[in-house]
Amino acid sequence: MDVVKYPGAPLRKGGRKVTSFDADLRDLAERMLDTMYTARGVGLAAPQVGIDLELLVLNETGERDDRDHEMVLVNPEIVANKGREFGEEGCLSFPGLYAEVERSVKLTVKYQDLDGAAQELRCSGFLARIIQHEIDHLKGVLFVDRLSSVEKMRVRGQLQDMERRFEAAKA
Ligand SMILES: [Zn+2]
Repeated sequence: MDVVKYPGAPLRKGGRKVTSFDADLRDLAERMLDTMYTARGVGLAAPQVGIDLELLVLNETGERDDRDHEMVLVNPEIVANKGREFGEEGCLSFPGLYAEVERSVKLTVKYQDLDGAAQELRCSGFLARIIQHEIDHLKGVLFVDRLSSVEKMRVRGQLQDMERRFEAAKA
């Protein structure tokens, strides 16, 4: 499975609620995890592989063998948050681009697992940052939308390069 690169249209489309908790969903999550590990990422949302569903996978260690840290969140929703802090983020849809993004420090997230069972997670720090970044993808929001004006200026050239390459590849 290929990761959609900026400014590919699926990235702005976001996802719709998952209603079928079947073998297809399980298979999709497995393939997304495989794609994430291969690309050396720590999180991947379904719109990033061109699928408009509210599904995301993550592993804060990025290690394929570390199944304990592997998570699949279906229809996730942030129900509480606390604190704000800046931290560096990258994104598999923006190869080579890193920027400082302000996020909540602590989160409570409600979601469903692959069986459709309701789950609640409290998290903080890097894990909370990944989850906020990936939930944004489900709404068609990208981390470059959340930069300060100074950071936006700093990465503008890189974004324009990506836009030019994208147009050139289409032609
Ligand atoms: Zn991303």
